[in-house]
This record gives sequence, structure tokens and C-alpha cells, in this order.
Amino acid sequence: MAVAPDCVVTIHYTLKDDAGEVLDRSVPEEPLAYLHGHGNIIPGLEKQLDGKNIGDALTVTIAPAEGYGEYDDRLVQSVPRRALRGIKDVKPGLRLQAQTPEGSRAVIVSKVLGDMVTLDGNHPLAGKSLHFDVRIEDVRAATEEELSHGHVHGPDGHHEH
Ligand code: ZN
Repeated sequence: MAVAPDCVVTIHYTLKDDAGEVLDRSVPEEPLAYLHGHGNIIPGLEKQLDGKNIGDALTVTIAPAEGYGEYDDRLVQSVPRRALRGIKDVKPGLRLQAQTPEGSRAVIVSKVLGDMVTLDGNHPLAGKSLHFDVRIEDVRAATEEELSHGHVHGPDGHHEH
């Protein structure tokens, strides 16, 4: 069965950056299962997997626009440290939830300079080309329940929401 919308696709993958450094990989005993055609994985990878078959292995490079998006300078802002009152140990790498007019947003502290703290709301992989090695282990039709939920349920149908 070929990969098509409304299939559950199980893949093994390794994700590297331009320098060949491994950013992420699936655990051998726990490949990633996702519902194809529902935006559960990045668009570029979903597109590349479309029409492929069980056992196929592919190496693909995905541009930022088809991955986690271009890096957006507007998502970077500096705030005075007192705006983070109550938060201990403010240093680069710290992840926070920032309140914005559009709701809560995940940000990372990218710089601390004197009394100013720079917060970056970009996805950590924004602006990066993504190099995937992927092997398709399984393709099956999704269940009605999975389709109505828009995501994959475990092998025994159990899941927690
Ligand atoms: Zn569900």
C-alpha cells in the first residue's frame, strides 16, 4: 500500500543539519507513526513521502519554508529583566511561555545583556535546511476514530487526551 492521505505511516528517521550534525532521530524500537495528509509532520517531508511504499528509503533535503518556517526577526524582542520577575536563573537556553496579545507563546532566552533579556519566539529549527534519512516501515489505513481526531492512536487503540 502506498502512502496517501488518510493513511497511518510508520517511519524511522534521522534529521541532520547542514553540518551533518544529528538534530533528532527516531528510537529504533519506537518508529514515528503519523496520520498522512493532516499536517501532523512538516509539509516538506509529508510531500516527499506521498506515493512512496513500505520499505522505501529516502534521503531528502527540506528548505526552511517547507520545514519549520523562515527565521522571523519580528518574533525576537528584548525586555527588561524585571518583566521576568519571579523567574530564577534567567540565562540563554531557558524556555518560557510568553503572554502576547495572540495568546501564550513558547520562547527561548537567546541573550542576556546587562538588564536586558532577549526572547526568541522562533521554532529552534526555523530558518534551517533539514536533511532527513527516512525509511518507511509500515503504511495502513487510518481508523474512523483516528480520522475524526486527526491523529494516530496506539496499536491497541488506546490513547490519552
Ligand atoms: Zn485521539
